[in-house]
Amino acid sequence: MSEKVELNPVMSTYGRFPITLVKGKGSYVWDKEGKKYLDYSSGIATCNLGHVPDVVEKAVQEQLGHLWHCSNLYHIPSQDKLAQLLVANSCGDQVFFCNSGAEANEAALKIAKKYAKDQFLKEIPQIVTFKNSFHGRTMATLSATGQEKIHQGFTPLTPGFSFLPFNDWDALEQLTSMNPDAVLIELVQGEGGVLPADKEWLKQLAKVCYDQQILLMVDEIQTGMGRTGTLFAYEQYEIEPDVISLAKGLGSGIPIGAIIAKEHVAKAFSPGTHGSTFGGNPIATTAGVATVTELTTTNVLNEANEMAHDIWTGLEKIAAKSNTIKQLRGMGLLIGLELDKPAIDYVNKAREDYQLLVIVAGPNVLRILPPLTTTREEVDQFLAIMKQLFI
Ligand SMILES: *Cc1c(COP(=O)(O)O)cnc(C)c1O
Repeated sequence: MSEKVELNPVMSTYGRFPITLVKGKGSYVWDKEGKKYLDYSSGIATCNLGHVPDVVEKAVQEQLGHLWHCSNLYHIPSQDKLAQLLVANSCGDQVFFCNSGAEANEAALKIAKKYAKDQFLKEIPQIVTFKNSFHGRTMATLSATGQEKIHQGFTPLTPGFSFLPFNDWDALEQLTSMNPDAVLIELVQGEGGVLPADKEWLKQLAKVCYDQQILLMVDEIQTGMGRTGTLFAYEQYEIEPDVISLAKGLGSGIPIGAIIAKEHVAKAFSPGTHGSTFGGNPIATTAGVATVTELTTTNVLNEANEMAHDIWTGLEKIAAKSNTIKQLRGMGLLIGLELDKPAIDYVNKAREDYQLLVIVAGPNVLRILPPLTTTREEVDQFLAIMKQLFI
């Protein structure tokens, strides 16, 4: 073996902040020196119930003593239960489970192609996505992503995608004349800068899809699981998607992804067409059951919406007095502050000077993702820090 140079054994796919986190509970995390941080990044919209939520911890710990894995060659009770909960709480009829957001969108793209082939004998299905979108890092999902910088270095891309401008009325005319097989859209572009879809525009887009039998697929990986104030963001847009992709918040931090589809679409998948060894695994789906049960049968969402109201009101006041904040936007507890300065400088200052964790969404947008379980005291603490940072 040749002499090895001293190297971080982890590949550098992420620029990492210089802290090491070893513990979390509720809205707080601790680094290895014992320093405590208010975590308003929630593991990128994943720990929606806060860190190590009791109900999920208890359920997972119990499942750890029973069965970890058995493959999808057998029935899995927690998988059935989670599917049942997702179907009961959405407009969809059947669920496919996988392990991440990118995999959920892969499943959405595959089912759209299979559906186009089965129903309309399409040899080369076409899928429309939007400029500035983010759908994942696998070959198909990065090809579906409407950002040049995500494509760079990875050609040839998966063919069959076209990109239309987001929130653009002319794009709907283009969509009508293109008549693709499916549309995949984020209801709030998360990574792209926390940009919510305009409601009237989205309703019209849904109408074009409905009238022309174009599958409407919503990427709710970041917006789902209560993040925007309802279990799914699509509920607030008064639309009924054919396919919903989920991941991030679904397992409270235990890795899991899923798509929910309407019956006519779901039946495009049959044994042998798609699969995943770990997908719907007993541990992951147990975490999912506990998470969705908490979100749908307790007061968590109502309380989250009260906190969101206070945060928005507080941030509006700060934005009005600040020369740096250009716009406050988002939905529920998915919040973006567009700045006229690099957002990363504020992320670093918040962490170093105030022990507050927030993240960016593109170069000039500060992204704030409080846990849905955040308390009034934490909100006050957060707003006091934001005041220090911006006025
Ligand atoms: C995070 C995210 C993805 C990718 O999810 P991974 O679990 O990182 O693969 C896809 N779409 C949206 C909208 C996301 O926010």
